[in-house]
Amino acid sequence: MEVKKEIALKNIPTKASEQYRNFPMVPRVVYGKGSFDQLGDILMPKRKHSEAPMIYLVDDVFEGTDLINRIPSIFCDQIILISAEEEPKTEQVDTLVKMILEKYSELPSGVIGIGGGTLLDLAKAIAIMLTNKGDAAQYQGWDLVNNRSVYHVGIPTISGTGAEVSRTTVLMGPEKKLGINSDYTTFDQVLLDPDLTKGVPKVQWFYTGMDCFIHCIESLNGTFLNAFSKSYGEKSLELCKEVFLENNSETDNREKLMMASWHGGMSIAYSQVGVAHAMSYGLGFVLGVKHGIGNCLVFQHLEEFYPEGVSLFNKMLDKHNIVLPTEVCSRLSVSEMDIMISVAIGMVPLWENALGEHWKSVITPEKLKSIYKKI
Ligand code: NAD
Ligand code: ZN
Repeated sequence: MEVKKEIALKNIPTKASEQYRNFPMVPRVVYGKGSFDQLGDILMPKRKHSEAPMIYLVDDVFEGTDLINRIPSIFCDQIILISAEEEPKTEQVDTLVKMILEKYSELPSGVIGIGGGTLLDLAKAIAIMLTNKGDAAQYQGWDLVNNRSVYHVGIPTISGTGAEVSRTTVLMGPEKKLGINSDYTTFDQVLLDPDLTKGVPKVQWFYTGMDCFIHCIESLNGTFLNAFSKSYGEKSLELCKEVFLENNSETDNREKLMMASWHGGMSIAYSQVGVAHAMSYGLGFVLGVKHGIGNCLVFQHLEEFYPEGVSLFNKMLDKHNIVLPTEVCSRLSVSEMDIMISVAIGMVPLWENALGEHWKSVITPEKLKSIYKKI
């Protein structure tokens, strides 16, 4: 198995010849309760003609709900309901792209992802693969996409991942779990309607929210931090503390967490995540543990790296009566543990951010094993 090692993510030029990264941002965003009802107006000028559909990829948790009736589906548009039970796979992207290309004589006018990180990432990946030849797995990595993607819109229905602002779409491929990181990945339009996150189950709200909190802690404590990342990370952390440690109305919390997610995503755009994410990738690859809960499972044991963050995290767990699963790694075979460790160690930029260029003197396979064994 290959885990892509990539140091181009680092944003601080170390030599005179290196350049600061010039990354894309979401060019258009609508924010507001009920703004979902503006979607039809937003999409209208993007429609090429009646034979070029809008493809809506919607989390199947919304099947039979009013949200489906509010989708502005006209002409030959298609609504595709997709389960978020499992994280997106390259193969799933390829199948959906093939289906869309076979069904329509024209390229779609747009792809709209409605759901959590899973649906947002699928929408990004499908928009890319509609205009780029081959399989999605070929593009997992950094800046491998050649052609501009189809117009794509992200509409989060759960807050935390920052997938709505990032330039990556994280996919499980046959050989690796890695993002398609490119300038064409970022959404052309995002619609932030806090009302859409009503109904998220409490435990899931916590896990995905903690993804955001951990983004902030890892970004703010990383060696790649600069004023750009810090300004977003600090705002996001402040909002996370308000949401998870204070007593606000549910409406307030929905609005604040949606903006915390956005700022958290902006913070890591120009820095990087750290120890919890590196190790969570190992859990995801070997055991299929999902991103949010995987981060929590690791983070609880990282006092040595993030003492203040872990102390806040424990308070948040307590306040919301969240009990994390135990013995997740207890039945792993020796070879599974080795794979998990090698996936985690392969996340070089994350370690460099967390611990600096001499990270290998701290992070050894034995060290990671001792942490995984506690999970
Ligand atoms: P998710 O999309 O996996 O959804 C989690 C659960 O919440 C699902 O069961 C879903 O059906 C449910 N759900 C979503 N909205 C709901 C609503 N309004 N009401 C009721 N239930 C609802 O969750 P996530 O944590 O947002 O996303 C995780 C994914 O995001 C992973 O695949 C991860 O790799 C990816 N990710 C991507 C980035 C990025 O920058 N691209 C960053 C972090 C994570
Ligand atoms: Zn994350």
